Amino acid sequence: MTDTNRVTRRSFTALAAGAGMAMAQRREQPAPDPFDAPIEFARKDVAAKARPFAMTQVRLLPGSMFYDAQEWNRGYMSRLAADRLLYNFRANAGLPTGSSQGFPGGGDNWERHADGTGGTELRGHFTGHFLSASANLWASRGDQDAKAKGDEMVAELAKCQQKLGGGYLSAFPTSLFDRLDRLSGAPMPPRTPGAPPPVEQTLPWAPFYTVHKIMAGMFDMYQYAGNKQALDVLTGMAEWADRWSGSKTEEHMQQILNTEYGGMAETLYNLAAATNDDKWAKAGDRFTKKRFVNPLALRRDQLTGLHVNTHVPQVIAAARRYEISGDTRFHDVADFFYWTVTTGRTYVTGGTSNGELWRRPPRQLAAELKTSVDAAECCCSYNMLKLTRHLYSWNPNPRYFDYFERTLVNHRIGTIHPKTGWTQYYVSYTPGAWKTFCNEDQNFWCCTGTGVEEYSKLNDSIYWHDEDGLYVNLFVPSELDWAEKGLKVRQEGDFPRAQSTVLTITAAKPQAMALRLRVPVWAAGSTVKVNGKALDAEAEPGSYLAIHRTWKTGDRVEMTLPMRLSVEAMPDDAGMQAFLYGPMVLAGDLGNEGLADELTYGQKGPALNERPGVASVPAIEIPTFHAGGADPAAWIKPGDAPLTFHTTGQKKDVKLLPFNSLFDRRYSVYWTVG
Ligand SMILES: [Zn+2]
Repeated sequence: MTDTNRVTRRSFTALAAGAGMAMAQRREQPAPDPFDAPIEFARKDVAAKARPFAMTQVRLLPGSMFYDAQEWNRGYMSRLAADRLLYNFRANAGLPTGSSQGFPGGGDNWERHADGTGGTELRGHFTGHFLSASANLWASRGDQDAKAKGDEMVAELAKCQQKLGGGYLSAFPTSLFDRLDRLSGAPMPPRTPGAPPPVEQTLPWAPFYTVHKIMAGMFDMYQYAGNKQALDVLTGMAEWADRWSGSKTEEHMQQILNTEYGGMAETLYNLAAATNDDKWAKAGDRFTKKRFVNPLALRRDQLTGLHVNTHVPQVIAAARRYEISGDTRFHDVADFFYWTVTTGRTYVTGGTSNGELWRRPPRQLAAELKTSVDAAECCCSYNMLKLTRHLYSWNPNPRYFDYFERTLVNHRIGTIHPKTGWTQYYVSYTPGAWKTFCNEDQNFWCCTGTGVEEYSKLNDSIYWHDEDGLYVNLFVPSELDWAEKGLKVRQEGDFPRAQSTVLTITAAKPQAMALRLRVPVWAAGSTVKVNGKALDAEAEPGSYLAIHRTWKTGDRVEMTLPMRLSVEAMPDDAGMQAFLYGPMVLAGDLGNEGLADELTYGQKGPALNERPGVASVPAIEIPTFHAGGADPAAWIKPGDAPLTFHTTGQKKDVKLLPFNSLFDRRYSVYWTVG
């Protein structure tokens, strides 16, 4: 994890004093940092201002890109046998592994079987994600097979936990945690040049990160699939984590937290909330990395140099901590982090990170992109969407869903491969790049894990509610069953391929409430009709259009969502531009020269530069454009097929199409435009 190159508040003060700056001469004591005071947990729930519907109350309707993505992922998950997902756990517990061979060894397989090669130090993580995804599929789709497989895995993992003893459950032994304890904060021993350091002198990869995935999987199987045994297994794991972390001094625990630990605190807070036992929240508090949260609580962006996906889960944990305690320090951490990442560190698709890090100060994205071809890790978008849900529930501002929609439509829908359900790791924005994917059973990266979770809960945030009524935040064809009110809402259309959506109401008895339609920031000129009659109200982009009435069966709301071409320039380079149509980012089709399956599948990112053991593609000419006017519609014209466009009047014209529909082609998203 790259936490170096950072100047803490205190060391900055020391530097300033050393330089003889005026502030040093005032001899002021620096104010204490927000988290210098002890963190003491006291349960006090903060009332949400808006709540999402349970996934069991919303179903996607066939025929949309969201439904297709759900089905591709469901197919992929159904092909992975429980025995294979359990193999390394059983091997670690010394239980028979049955007829399964686990997953193939070698290559870049994070879940390879632990015989012979020894396995990776992250083994078991995907099984945790798979449990979460199985619970999601049950809740979102009523998928009996997914639930049965999830239940079977919980029961078998419980046997592994029983055999291992002490509540511990993992596919690797506790010796990884011993190394984490011994080597965190310890001086690095001298190294022999040219030789890798011995394992016992190396910090483990990320043992708490991995254990968190399993704990979260158990929590989700309990929460979404009603599996009580999963809560027992989780409680045992939490007991183990509580004992382990409680035996360390706070200073040493802070050193331990320099190794990636996922959302340990989030799951412990969730457990505290679900069981009304503060003990788990107090254990969760030990996973607060103070030097990360202190500047955020002071609304300072000191994120440069940090590993992105290590830290977004820590912010989700902070959000959850605020919700169950009202401690505003945690609120401020989440609120500021979200603001600085989404306004200053996010590309046009909603993705963030570059080579897994933030390498430049905020709003230097053009410079940032030049440092690596491996931009926008998919896990980061998964976690940012999760964080958005928390912030929106505190303050239901439709602008949160402008970001959510942008990320969902471009970076999530566009990164699962049709038919196979294989998913991406990095999404590259280097001109001439192409989308790369995992393969069936030889990768199981972090993003494969968050991928199976994401595409099994695409119904999650379409509709929200409060005491006044309903929010419609996403235009995803779906049906809401608001059983408490005897109300059903069916949303049809083919957004974003169609520029409208239609809502039809079924009400057991007439229901007075507000129906609030999000008017996207890009949808200027949107109109709304109720039962065929145009509303005499302006649908202001970036707001809600609220319709207060007594709703009855057969009521029909039609909303137009007019799309137009728009341009988004890099904040640090006005000539580096991307184009959108409505919420959809457009990519230029640059052909498929040099693309072969081995460059696409089993690759985390495109081999545009030399990569060890990977062939690289021929360089191709990347067209540059001169804009034929401030409005891109002046020189980017519709193509023959729906949602296709082409440039005009350029030295070399290019076909443009939605980034989310482009596969197995080389592309550019950003262009040099004069
Ligand atoms: Zn990832």
